[in-house]
Amino acid sequence: MTAATKTSSAEYIADIGLEVHVELATRSKMFCSCAVVDPTASAPNSAVCPVCCGMPGVLPVINRRAVELAIRAALALNCRVMETSIFARKNYFYPDLPKGYQISQYESPLAVDGYLLILTPQGEKHVTIRRAHLEEDTGKLTHAQEDGKSFSLVDLNRAGIPLLEIVSEPDMHSVEDVRAYSRELRLLLRWLGVSSGDMEKGSMRFEANLSMRPAESAELGTRVEIKNLNSFRAMEQAILYQMDAQRAALQAGKKVVQQTLGWDEAAGRTVAQRSKEDANDYRYFPEPDLPPLVVDQAWLEKIRADMPELPGAKRARYREAYRLSDEDIERLVEEKDTVIFFEACLAAAPELPSRSITNWLLTDLFAWLNLNSVGVSEIKISPRDFTELIASVENGAINPGTGKEVLAEMLEGGRNPREIIAEKGLEQISDGELISGLVAQILSEYPAETQSFRAGKETVANWLFGQVMRAAGGKANPQVVKTELMRQLRRE
Ligand SMILES: [Zn+2]
Repeated sequence: MTAATKTSSAEYIADIGLEVHVELATRSKMFCSCAVVDPTASAPNSAVCPVCCGMPGVLPVINRRAVELAIRAALALNCRVMETSIFARKNYFYPDLPKGYQISQYESPLAVDGYLLILTPQGEKHVTIRRAHLEEDTGKLTHAQEDGKSFSLVDLNRAGIPLLEIVSEPDMHSVEDVRAYSRELRLLLRWLGVSSGDMEKGSMRFEANLSMRPAESAELGTRVEIKNLNSFRAMEQAILYQMDAQRAALQAGKKVVQQTLGWDEAAGRTVAQRSKEDANDYRYFPEPDLPPLVVDQAWLEKIRADMPELPGAKRARYREAYRLSDEDIERLVEEKDTVIFFEACLAAAPELPSRSITNWLLTDLFAWLNLNSVGVSEIKISPRDFTELIASVENGAINPGTGKEVLAEMLEGGRNPREIIAEKGLEQISDGELISGLVAQILSEYPAETQSFRAGKETVANWLFGQVMRAAGGKANPQVVKTELMRQLRRE
């Protein structure tokens, strides 16, 4: 047996880094006043002008809002925001880039040296962010075929949309790490309103670099790059595929070839792409039409002061203050709108246990939202009405089953729970005297059963309970009935 075949798969370590391109949620493009339009709902080339079409003689102007959003992201990623950063021309020719160059940042990016804390099955990990820089998006090509001829269609609506490229160090070592990092990053960017993070519309795109090395070696192996990963699923599958392929090559004593790959979703494998030019081939040079981007201290501090509480801090606070489970906390912080609604509920009904609010929100409200494909920000009921419903169940005015029905009706019609409960006569009878009277009445109607309970046949209590509930038209608070029935049967 050779040394290579003895090496088990666990003895290789993967080093994975991600480059994430994020479209910033601005109304207009990075260097012109063209609107940023929904790619799925707009005619091709309907949001273009001479600047983003690359006509000669035009001048780009920096979109201040794009810079602010990028800084928000950089601060949340614990980066150092540079006082001066420089836009540079990245020269290459491709039909989706009419200027013949992309305006990006190269030697002097907007932000450097950050990190993101992620939660993996092995615990909390620290992923270093090498840099985050601004650039403009390219147009989009659609390759088509008609009458046996193939051709490409160019749509420049996307050309010039502001992008933030976030580059991590190869600090991730498993697909679980990658999953945690990419999801946490998306959560953070959506949380801050920096990007929609809508991957189906291409608002967030991934590229991975990956190499493998023997566990005992500190030196990184030969790396491959995998481009155009447009969903979490594609990214995870591509990484797993490459990890297997590289491990197999190394185990067989072969070398990994440095190359650029794409992911073929249908075939379930990575495929070699035209090898990427070196940085040299892009002939980067400072963009002569734009001044250096200066972020002074006052501007930076203003943006910092406007930052909301971040998901990490929220999680810690919910754990501490409300003793919620990690799973419930994750479901709450997944969408900022949920957090806003949850906190408004807590404020509207400080006397209610936070546990009850969480349960009703994550179970019954979420079930209705999922069923109706509605977001929490779109619901017609107020946090006050929602907590009032929960309080009605908690204090026994209605039973939990009725509570669910009332909630569904509230969500459909936007009405408050008082109206619905009163109108339908759903209120439970919890009044002690009333129930006491009902119980006494039933016991006098069924003296034989009452006697048999007192003679030791305790199961008959269930039957008597049913009689009381029936006499109350099913509206009596079962807990109160049970207590009162037992009290009278035992002559307490
Ligand atoms: Zn334009």
